[in-house]
Amino acid sequence: MHHTQKNLIEIEEKIKNKINILNLSNYDPKVIAVSKTFSEQDILPLIEYGHHEFGENKVQEAQAKWTKIKKNHKDLKLHMLGKLQTNKVKNAVEIFDYIHSLDNLKLANKISKELNKKSKKIKIFIQVNLGDEEQKSGIDPSELETFYKTCLDLKLDIIGTMCIPPENKDPKPFFEDLLKLNQKLNLSEISMGMTNDYLDALQYKSTFLRIGTGIFGKRVNQF
Ligand SMILES: *Cc1c(COP(=O)(O)O)cnc(C)c1O
Repeated sequence: MHHTQKNLIEIEEKIKNKINILNLSNYDPKVIAVSKTFSEQDILPLIEYGHHEFGENKVQEAQAKWTKIKKNHKDLKLHMLGKLQTNKVKNAVEIFDYIHSLDNLKLANKISKELNKKSKKIKIFIQVNLGDEEQKSGIDPSELETFYKTCLDLKLDIIGTMCIPPENKDPKPFFEDLLKLNQKLNLSEISMGMTNDYLDALQYKSTFLRIGTGIFGKRVNQF
């Protein structure tokens, strides 16, 4: 068995066990296999295993890697997780099915415009900055509701919120805050939890876990 398959199966097992311990019913979070910096060689075994959700953080890298794979596997879903520049939106909406990193109005306008042109649908998360000084990306929680309404006016299909807690802090208070914000907006999806904290994210009802290192191994080119 390929190591990425083995890693994913182990992670799925841990998730199942944790959900049992938490005694949560009707809860089935999705794992996004974050394949940035990794090649087909490591990705294809996961597709063969039946995995559908993959994530990248750069538009160009995603195009180079996924255009062909997606042609051959129509049921795959590709998630944009990284900072998105407006000049990359045109290409991004072609290759991605989800955007997790909507974090400003200019970007919202541009995505809306490109989707209108193509009459294409993309599912979108609003990235929220939960008060971390180092992290510049994300909508301030105090502005979230207004920003969300503007996105609806722009006819964007906002399905949830997303956060990246600071690396060196306990992620749980951040997960709890995001869950509350999500519930306030009555959104159904939450994108939070990475290799080091995905089991914690389950307690706060994350619906999309973004796991890279845990599945593919350590990245040589860190971004
Ligand atoms: C790279 C990345 C991940 C995956 O991180 P790991 O720690 O390798 O699991 C998740 N979310 C975002 C936004 C990323 O850029």
